[in-house]
Amino acid sequence: MNNELAISLPIPSSIPGIVWPVIPTPMAAQLLSQIHYFNLSETFSPSTLLTLQFTQLVEVINFARKTVPYYRSKFSHLPVITNGEQLREIWDEIPMLSRLDLQQAKDAIFSESPLPSHEPSELMTSTGSTGMPVTVKGNVATQFFWNATTLRDHLWHKHDFNKTYAVIRFTENPAAKPPHGAVFENWGPATYRVVPTGKCHHLTICTTEEEVRWLRDINPHYLNCNPSTLREITQYFAAHGGVPDHLTMVHTNSEIVEPDLRRMVKEVMGVQLVDTYSTKELGYLALQCPEQEHYHVQSENVLVEIINEQGKLCEIDEPGRVVATALHNFASPLIRYFVGDYASPGEPCSCGRNLPVIKRILGRQRNMLKLPDGRRIWPSFTSNGLRLMDMFSGAQFQVIQKSLSEIHINLAHISPFSAKEEENLRAQLSIVFDYPFRFIFNYLEKIERGPGGKYEDFKCEVA
Ligand SMILES: [Zn+2]
Repeated sequence: MNNELAISLPIPSSIPGIVWPVIPTPMAAQLLSQIHYFNLSETFSPSTLLTLQFTQLVEVINFARKTVPYYRSKFSHLPVITNGEQLREIWDEIPMLSRLDLQQAKDAIFSESPLPSHEPSELMTSTGSTGMPVTVKGNVATQFFWNATTLRDHLWHKHDFNKTYAVIRFTENPAAKPPHGAVFENWGPATYRVVPTGKCHHLTICTTEEEVRWLRDINPHYLNCNPSTLREITQYFAAHGGVPDHLTMVHTNSEIVEPDLRRMVKEVMGVQLVDTYSTKELGYLALQCPEQEHYHVQSENVLVEIINEQGKLCEIDEPGRVVATALHNFASPLIRYFVGDYASPGEPCSCGRNLPVIKRILGRQRNMLKLPDGRRIWPSFTSNGLRLMDMFSGAQFQVIQKSLSEIHINLAHISPFSAKEEENLRAQLSIVFDYPFRFIFNYLEKIERGPGGKYEDFKCEVA
């Protein structure tokens, strides 16, 4: 199926007069070759995938030991590594890299002799939702795999490249301000090098009213934005109607997608929500399966381990910390890096792709609810048919746990509830959160976003 799709792309020929078989430009040829390989590698058995990943990891680890000051000292206890099988045997001895380690390492995480063919590299700073900035380097090699995986995502979800794409995302570009936003002639470097595309419109994050007006004006086929932006837009359409009629699919990234958001988007806008899991430091970690709501690890880009509190790989459905190793970043190798998120592995997928399955991405520890008995759980915002989105319909909301007994519900864009209504809501909230917390309602003008326009529906401030 994917092969047929890739073959049927209207790829322009770089040699006049030759229209079949097409001779693509060198960059298009590299990307297409990668796509064809991905179509094969995603069907490899899990053990073959691991063997190939470790063959690549030998290169990364040995290069890091030789040229990166941070790893030179951290890996001094390891034997000489000559092959993937041996590396796999000693993998548990390779220390993990926390966000704090990375922050403190500063320039010591950069290679002193970067590979010339991977250059130029550029500095990339990520604040993350923890507000703890880290800086790594990306280069031609990491960008290539970013572009190839972006293309794979378009192909998996059968995007029609002629259609209009719209992006709502924070940007410094003054042209992207409302009411018109910025217009680009194509979807970007991952696609236009291979295939002609429709236009791409970009709006920076603004008010929901401005975002909706812009969407109705452009009437795009595809929309890409953060889940929190999507939640606000969907709530607006639920209250006012007028969903742009060309819209066929919505893509999200950067934040956690709560299961209720998928349902709400389907109910209100009649389209599917497709999520991707990526970070600035590592590129793509996982793409959503075209046939299921879970994710497939991008094993050709990254080795993902989901690890429990005992330091062992999690079982199916067991939540654990996401630890990732970048396979192609030789400029600032990230080896067994704690991404900061929790996730749970899923059963093998029935779609025919053998790439490991992530069933749910759960977010950061501070997005976990802490119960008085010491348990930490991921709040689901829905229980026994009660849903937060219905209780606060039309409002922007954020839930903050202040102590083991107190939860604040911050609400914006809504008239305050009466004392009686608040009392009813408290009873429902006790069911949703499975404990009779003291629920305090705060009515705000606006709920501010975190660094880079990120937004957290739930935050726990209990140490
Ligand atoms: Zn699948």
